[in-house]
Amino acid sequence: MDDVYRYIDANRDRFIAELKAFLRIPSVATDAAAVRVCAEKLTGALSEVGFKTRLMPSSGNPMVYGELAGNQGAPTVLVYGHYDVMPADDVGSWTSPPFEPTERDGRIFARGVGDNKAQHMAHIKAVEALRACGKTSAPIKFVLEGEEETGSTSLPGFVRDHREMLQADVCFAADGPRHESNRPTIYLGCRGVIGFELKVRTANRDVHSGNRGNVVPNPGWRLLDALSSMRDAKGTVAIEGFHDDIRPMGEEDFRLLGALGFDGAKMGKELAVPELDTMAAREYHERVMYRPTLNISGLVSGHGGEGIKNIVPATATAKMDIRLVADQSPDKIMALVRRHLDARGFGDVEIVVHDTMKPSRTSSGNNFVAPIVAALREATGQEPVVLPALGGSIPQYAFVEGLGIPCIWSAYANWDEHNHAPNENMVVELFIQAIKMSANVFHSLGKA
Ligand SMILES: [Zn+2]
Repeated sequence: MDDVYRYIDANRDRFIAELKAFLRIPSVATDAAAVRVCAEKLTGALSEVGFKTRLMPSSGNPMVYGELAGNQGAPTVLVYGHYDVMPADDVGSWTSPPFEPTERDGRIFARGVGDNKAQHMAHIKAVEALRACGKTSAPIKFVLEGEEETGSTSLPGFVRDHREMLQADVCFAADGPRHESNRPTIYLGCRGVIGFELKVRTANRDVHSGNRGNVVPNPGWRLLDALSSMRDAKGTVAIEGFHDDIRPMGEEDFRLLGALGFDGAKMGKELAVPELDTMAAREYHERVMYRPTLNISGLVSGHGGEGIKNIVPATATAKMDIRLVADQSPDKIMALVRRHLDARGFGDVEIVVHDTMKPSRTSSGNNFVAPIVAALREATGQEPVVLPALGGSIPQYAFVEGLGIPCIWSAYANWDEHNHAPNENMVVELFIQAIKMSANVFHSLGKA
């Protein structure tokens, strides 16, 4: 593969320029025009390196599809990625404008560079390098969506409707930050998520707290009582049945966790949370990968502006999310939340579910894990870190359930990529290294 790696090094400036052209397109999922431009350009980038491509409609933003014949008899690899980006928000906090990619300190700064444009660009340029050097690969199919940051709403239906077209032996995708050592990083699954609101309404309008206090019930207190009933004094979720379906940890899970370090003091200092200082590595990783959360992400009721307003507000809302671990089901969990509220006398608390994503996990004993880990090791000379799961949520279940195939992720961005935040960035060397890793994965799976 040395000739392929040399080709990648020799063409690095062009690869970076091509990536920057994508980063200039502000393809936030809700910007239909930019989404269209990005999807079309991506289809072109796949055709250029030899893919048969289709720009396909979905129930939301278009899907970019491409396929490349590879070695007969070798397993087909389905590559997933997303070309939509988070909104840049807070543009004033960016050192350089979010959609004008800028290089500083060996990094490219731009919205969407790590999440996810440089990551799927690495796969595309890997194919270019293999073909330019006359190297064979596994048959490859690409599916790139434009709605990941808004919950991949169309993807599961699209996969179901195009089972035959997408059928493959393994899904290999790149997203997310590397382990904090910046060594090559593999992860095998993710937690799921349910985003929802709890709402209480009492009167039909706000009233004077002197004239109507003690008479008109206060929705803020009502909501807080409902929320406190949902966990005990130690912080354990008290919703009956909430923990029932959690897949127990096995020997393999403990082995993988045992190999992961964690610097609690460093994170504690960085976040100004002293409780983290003494947290053991095993406890940290178990909490993030193997235990569900019940999180309040926002509380809204009454007057939030300056000073005091003497009112009994009419409404109170809690913005919530639940992170689910393997084998919890979003529908079942939300039914349990409803049952809990009703049983505790909170039938008046309304639940509004926004988006959900199921949890999913590929076993570390799966046949594709070892060859992919070996390919990354060979391409970099570094020992890959293998994470059983990601704490966050990605649409792995769409492939695992929709196609019945394992899904293996490689995180290519640096661990401090600042995705979803100002100054999102990618270390240039890691982008170049990612192209080499993808090239070796596609090439070695082609020999299997
Ligand atoms: Zn993201």
